[in-house]
Amino acid sequence: MTNTLHVVPVNDLTDHDTSTTEPDCLCGPEVRPTAQDDGTVGWLLVHHSLDGWERATG
Ligand SMILES: [Zn+2]
Repeated sequence: MTNTLHVVPVNDLTDHDTSTTEPDCLCGPEVRPTAQDDGTVGWLLVHHSLDGWERATG
């Protein structure tokens, strides 16, 4: 079974989509493989801070 963890910027005003295992949040999360304690590889979805430009573009 694959584990997917979301890493969302603290204090970010943007609503990030962390309800999915796909990197389809509007911030374009970066996908990184990460070794887990049990030896399997999980996935890290690293979200980007969007405070600023997403409000400017409406
Ligand atoms: Zn995001």
